[in-house]
Amino acid sequence: MKVAVYSSKAYDIDSFNATNHDDSVEMNFLKVGLDEKTAALAAGHDAVCIFVNDIADAEVLEKLSENGVKFIALRCAGFNNVDLKKAKEFGIKVARVPAYSPESVAEFTVGMIMTVVRKYHKAYNRVREGNFLLDGLLGFNLSGKTVGIIGTGRIGLLTGKILSKGFSCNVIAYDVYPNAKAASEYGIKYVDTLEELLKTSDIVSLHCPLMDSTYHILDEKSLAQTKKGVVLINTSRGGLIDTAALISALKTGHIGAVGLDVYEKEEEYFFGDSSSKIIYDDNLSRLISFYNVFITGHQAFLTNEALHGIAETTLCNLKSLSQDGTSENLVEPR
Ligand code: NAD
Repeated sequence: MKVAVYSSKAYDIDSFNATNHDDSVEMNFLKVGLDEKTAALAAGHDAVCIFVNDIADAEVLEKLSENGVKFIALRCAGFNNVDLKKAKEFGIKVARVPAYSPESVAEFTVGMIMTVVRKYHKAYNRVREGNFLLDGLLGFNLSGKTVGIIGTGRIGLLTGKILSKGFSCNVIAYDVYPNAKAASEYGIKYVDTLEELLKTSDIVSLHCPLMDSTYHILDEKSLAQTKKGVVLINTSRGGLIDTAALISALKTGHIGAVGLDVYEKEEEYFFGDSSSKIIYDDNLSRLISFYNVFITGHQAFLTNEALHGIAETTLCNLKSLSQDGTSENLVEPR
């Protein structure tokens, strides 16, 4: 099984090399991302291994198919960047890593809440400049605050558990498929509607996948339902929030603070270094400019444990696909 590994970073190469102990899977690491222009680089490979911002739309899939690619191994949980119907039409099977250390993202989410509420990032910069003033660093206790979790899968449940059991928050949740047993064990109470969650939460954290039904789940209308001063956290997928509506709500002062690990047009800049370049995305620049917005570059998954889990499951998927053309982690079009 020869695999072209797109968007490879040093940490991907290290974790795959440390985990790939036999020679049945040959991995060729490519720095470039997968798109229409780079799809031809997959010629001579049975599979491509891709990450969150690689594009596998109809045009790319056609090129992959022409070049003999039979499998796509996503080294992430989300699959919103793959046109699954087209992949099926071209006979390309798609597998993913459904669960790899949900702790990595849940713990990062809680850290992000603490950062925007207690302003660690501002304090860090001030102290480095020799400024020990506390003005402008006023926060609030998490204990007793209502946190609304949207999407109670692996990551949402764990985030709720940490906040409920560790911080004594009142954790409420909304999910189209509630998991009542786990939620009650973790001290999480379901509400019946998204509106109820938005109206009552001091902090709202997004943990549902990006699908047609969740695209812009936080838009002008739903943002208007949130409490004044609400803290919004998104460590899931950028397309869940309508960025233009978020910027408008920030400008009116309705929103207290925002923590984003993902952004709806992140493909252009995330995972790259633009420190000596001009950023042409005015919405991204505007978000970065707000004093009460904290952005990280899709980093929540980045722990040793998560990378090891991703490498192990991806290699298992590839071996299984090469042996009998299937995998327990296949993703099918809905
Ligand atoms: P999961 O599949 O275990 O859980 C997703 C939950 O969302 C499910 O319970 C589902 O029923 C629920 N859901 C679906 N539609 C909904 C809707 N309309 N309203 C409310 N809930 C809805 O997924 P997970 O492993 O917990 O991961 C959640 C998301 O986190 C992933 O989809 C991925 O986009 C994101 N993620 C981000 C990073 C990162 O580094 N920032 C890393 C891993 C995963």
